[in-house]
Amino acid sequence: NHVMICGGTGCTSSGSDRIAAAFERELERHGLDSEVKVVRTGCFGLCALGPIVVIYPEGSFYSRVKEEHVEWIVTEHLLKGRPVRSLLFDETVDGERIKSLDQTGFYKKQKRVALRNCGVINPENIEEYIAFDGYAALGKALTEMTPDDVIQTVLDSGLRGRGGGGFPTGRKWQLACADRGKVKKFVCCNADEGDPGAFMDRSVLEGDPHAVIEAMAIAGYAIGADKGYVYVRAEYPIAVKRLQIAINQARDYGLLGEDIFGSGFNFDIEIKLGAGAFVCGEETALMTSIEGNRGEPRPRPPFPAKKGLFGRPTILNNVETYANIPQIILNGAEWFRSMGTENSPGTKVFALGGKIHNTGLVEVPMGTTLREIVEEIGGGIPDGKKFKAAQTGGPSGGCIPAELIDTPIDYDSLSKIGSMMGSGGLIVMDEDTCMVDIAKFFLEFTVDESCGKCTPCRVGTKRLLELLEKITSGNGTMRDLERIEELAEFVKNNSLCGLGQTAPNPVLSTLKYFREEYLAHIQDKR
Ligand code: SF4
Repeated sequence: NHVMICGGTGCTSSGSDRIAAAFERELERHGLDSEVKVVRTGCFGLCALGPIVVIYPEGSFYSRVKEEHVEWIVTEHLLKGRPVRSLLFDETVDGERIKSLDQTGFYKKQKRVALRNCGVINPENIEEYIAFDGYAALGKALTEMTPDDVIQTVLDSGLRGRGGGGFPTGRKWQLACADRGKVKKFVCCNADEGDPGAFMDRSVLEGDPHAVIEAMAIAGYAIGADKGYVYVRAEYPIAVKRLQIAINQARDYGLLGEDIFGSGFNFDIEIKLGAGAFVCGEETALMTSIEGNRGEPRPRPPFPAKKGLFGRPTILNNVETYANIPQIILNGAEWFRSMGTENSPGTKVFALGGKIHNTGLVEVPMGTTLREIVEEIGGGIPDGKKFKAAQTGGPSGGCIPAELIDTPIDYDSLSKIGSMMGSGGLIVMDEDTCMVDIAKFFLEFTVDESCGKCTPCRVGTKRLLELLEKITSGNGTMRDLERIEELAEFVKNNSLCGLGQTAPNPVLSTLKYFREEYLAHIQDKR
């Protein structure tokens, strides 16, 4: 028997460590400690019902577990073989209780690729990762494939950057692959996840850190780099700790370091902690920060693939992008293309939040509609309220109104309607939400996070916010609305980096779909 307890940040903050300790004590008291193993895993996804405990072999899924329930679960379930009904996550369809978690509304439409090991293995034990095909992709790449084969497979898979830009990953690797062995190069991982409400990358690092390490080593082999950096925010202590443990274990097992798999390939990884500046998620700012300088963006070109970290060719991918790589190498490009859409193959992880029943982490094939995510996976809007809009892409993204709820979620469909995939934050709003307030919230965020290097962003976002404040305080005019539109376009077109270039998006998309709410604020004044 295994007692799997979510050790991700969400459940840990609601006491899962104490629950795990209580299980260990209780099992010992009943002399079951040698038969039943307590495992702290990564996130199961259904954060709304945390802390979560899953007991195998039955797969009984206990939700909202408290310390005082532990004695009851051990006696009833583990000693008497009777799962505690009142604590089980227990959906029914037509009066029939659903037996398997895969059949529940929350999990039925999900497909776990990047999250495949989260909630399944102990992320602090490399042997569990290896038991689930871990490091087999690295072995295959080093012993059966040339670096060009690896790049071609990633290109053929159609994998696009999951950090928000959607640039083809294989193309990025191809741009950096010249002069292998002759020039020092770097492989970087962007784990500086900063969008409000987003925690996809944190969950992957907490639940499956070896997948990222393995993928970075594969990338190093592909482009001819021997050094990798993971840039991760210091506010993610569990992710940082587990990643460091995983790096140490990989070194001990000869999977990082010199002559990996006897192939002559050397690669090692170092963690660099970010101090929480949102702009350090921008690739050139991230590299400047790793170099030990103030994290400010640099103009591009030159692009990092030619002149990146320490002036050397560098590739940077985000955590979720890397988490897909070992599976692509092992199962092939066609397998990956069998999921998702033609131009957006594979799956995408979303952090589902806001006014929705099942807040948490979900992974769906690209092309799944917003309606399926909100109504089926998310379980709909609480208190019988109506769905009003969903915000994707955080402060760089836009709002999708209710009339577009059947939009398939993929890179191209989202940009067509003025939103963007972003890194995967998905915030749901109900009929009571003021969309002007939402635009203001995101703009306040970008004003705070603007690094100040260029004037259009430093001054422009501040002026935009002042205009929005004027409108929400009831002092706005129609001329202010025109000014907002002019200024938003100017900031978008003239800012140096992605932060400023996308900062007006929440304002522009709410103006496009919810203009009447801006007008109502202006007319209220009269
Ligand atoms: Fe800094 Fe904003 Fe300019 Fe980017 S756009 S360089 S965040 S001031």
